Amino acid sequence: MSPGKARLATGASERDLILADLLAHGRFLSGLSSIGVPVPSAAALKVDATAGTGAPASTRIGAPAGDRPEPRTDDPAAALAAIRADLGDCRRCKLASGRKTIVFGQGNPRAELMFVGEAPGSEEDEQGLAFVGRAGQLLTDIIEKGMKMKRSDVWIGNVLKCRPPQNRNPEPDEILSCQPFLEAQIRTIRPRVLVGLGKFAAHWLLRTAEPISRLRGRLGDHDGIPVMPTYHPAYLLRNPGAKKDVWEDMKTVLGLLGRPVPGPGE
Ligand code: SF4
Repeated sequence: MSPGKARLATGASERDLILADLLAHGRFLSGLSSIGVPVPSAAALKVDATAGTGAPASTRIGAPAGDRPEPRTDDPAAALAAIRADLGDCRRCKLASGRKTIVFGQGNPRAELMFVGEAPGSEEDEQGLAFVGRAGQLLTDIIEKGMKMKRSDVWIGNVLKCRPPQNRNPEPDEILSCQPFLEAQIRTIRPRVLVGLGKFAAHWLLRTAEPISRLRGRLGDHDGIPVMPTYHPAYLLRNPGAKKDVWEDMKTVLGLLGRPVPGPGE
C-alpha cells in the first residue's frame, strides 16, 4: 500500500488530504468567489489553514506535463477498493440525504485514459454506475465508435459521487467534501490522460473558473497529468453541432496516448 493509501485508510489522514486539497484549490475558490459563487471559509469547514501539509499541487492551463509525483501502485484494484471502503456510507456532505446510491466510478484500474464528469444523474443514482443514461450512451459511442477503444479499458467517474437534487449544479461545499476521494482515485489510477467533461469537471481538474467555451480544446494539467477539457455529453445531446469540437479534442487525446486517429468511416 502506498503512503497515500495508508494515510487515507486512517481517520486522521482524511483531514490532511482535505486540507492539502483546499490549499491546492485556492485559485479555484478565488475564481468561484469572483463570479459570485459563495465559498465556505476554512473556519466554516473547521479546517486549520495554518497547518503545514506540503506544497499545493501545480495546475496550469497550457503547461507541459511534468513528472508524476507518485508512482502507480502495484495493485490499483486493491487500492481503489480501499478508497471505496474509506468512503463507506458517506455522509460527509448534504447530498447523502437525497441519494439512493454512491456512484464510485468504474472501469479499468490501470486505465490510461480517465473521464471525469460532474455528478451522477437519476439513472446513475439508480444503478450505482457512472454515465449509464443517455449521456452515458453518447460517451460510450465517443469512446468505442469514435476512438476505437473499449469502454471497459478506460475509467469513468465524477467530481461528486452522489446525485444533486433535481440534477442541480454541484455546490462548493459538496465539491470540497467529495474531492479527496477523486484525488485518491486519480493518484491510484495515474492515467496518462484525463478528460474533463463539462464545466465543473474542467474547473475542478484545472483549478480555474474560466468558461468551458474558452477552456475546451486547450490542454492543461492536473498534478502532471495532461487534461483535455471538453463538452459534457449531456450538452452534446442538446447541441449536436458541438460533436465535431469534441471529436477534435478526442483526436488530441488519441495522439497523447500514441494511438492512431481513425479516419472517417473507419
Ligand atoms: S457527494 Fe461525496 S462527500 Fe457528499 S455524501 Fe456523496 S460521497 Fe460523501
